Amino acid sequence: MTTDTTVPLVDLKAAHAEVEAEVRAGFDRVLATGGYIRGPEAAGFEEEYAAFSGTRHCVGAANGTDALELALRALDLPPGGGVVLPANTFVATAEAVVRAGLRPVLVDADDDHLLIDPARVADVLPQAAALLPVHLNGQLAPMAALLELAGDRPVVEDAAQSQGARQDGRALHGRIAATSFYPGKNLGAYGDAGAVTTDDDGLAAAVRLIGDHGSDRKYVHERFGFNSRLDALQAVVLRAKLRRLPAWNAARRAAAERYHRLLAGFDGITLPRTAPGNEHVWHLYAVRIGPGRDRDAVLAALREAGIGAGVHYPVPVHLQPAFRHLGHGEGAFPVAERAARELLTLPLFPQITDAQQERVAEALAKALVS
Ligand SMILES: *Cc1c(COP(=O)(O)O)cnc(C)c1O
Repeated sequence: MTTDTTVPLVDLKAAHAEVEAEVRAGFDRVLATGGYIRGPEAAGFEEEYAAFSGTRHCVGAANGTDALELALRALDLPPGGGVVLPANTFVATAEAVVRAGLRPVLVDADDDHLLIDPARVADVLPQAAALLPVHLNGQLAPMAALLELAGDRPVVEDAAQSQGARQDGRALHGRIAATSFYPGKNLGAYGDAGAVTTDDDGLAAAVRLIGDHGSDRKYVHERFGFNSRLDALQAVVLRAKLRRLPAWNAARRAAAERYHRLLAGFDGITLPRTAPGNEHVWHLYAVRIGPGRDRDAVLAALREAGIGAGVHYPVPVHLQPAFRHLGHGEGAFPVAERAARELLTLPLFPQITDAQQERVAEALAKALVS
């Protein structure tokens, strides 16, 4: 018998194995009705995800980037208004701002947690029509400080990486949040999907309207919209997985704690930290390599050893060719730039075994001395 000594970054097949029977039964249900867009499965999921998030409303969307755009559009901000977001995020956060007809105002992160830094937000406040913090890697940005800075300005939360995370006991702190059910997220569909959560009845209705061609009656288009709806087959998957999500997030937390123990005392790396008040859901377990060490060499050595490590994200938003027009060069956001050079994401998923984590730790120890 051969044993597989490789460790993937995420194992979506292991997650599927847990929900397979329910998903197949649900697909049969949908196929029997022929109703593929929204419908009772999507409505059922929206209700369940709202309850899970502790919000009055959840409105499904076609993906997380759309969900962010829908949330921003629903707010009716002045065209071209500045939206403050961190430079160290997935590019989608900035894309949604541009697509909503608004202007990204990038700021740096705090060096301890790599979350948007309220002190840097304060610097750009005169340009801000809204704030768009990102709950990076599975923990919430410092919401109390951000809400205080925001005053009357709306705060929109990029919750794509924080499904199930809480701060001071709550998921939603701002006016509206958007999440992604991209397959690799903590709650992942079998294709693209996303959602908006809010307690505001008017915003929820606006999101639903905009995401369905501005229409809530066939062929009557109240306002300018586009097509971004949750489909029934994805809703089936999401309902089955949502029932496991609390246990899966707990398993992620246990795995993160095991890494903390296994990697404590390793020379030349910094372990990720949980900010005060946060209940972390460990979407990613990203260590920092260095300074004075070559992260890419460590990454290559891990891959050579069959460890599916990754980098999230190698280039911050302001240094991406698509966002060069914002006018920030190298050195503009030193924390984000250093993080991009130093971060290394280790394999972590709910079904990861002790033995797999030990193999990761062993390979990392070897990679760090070579
Ligand atoms: C995944 C992600 C998104 C975009 O979600 P999609 O469903 O891929 O469109 C936005 N923001 C962050 C921080 C993400 O991680």
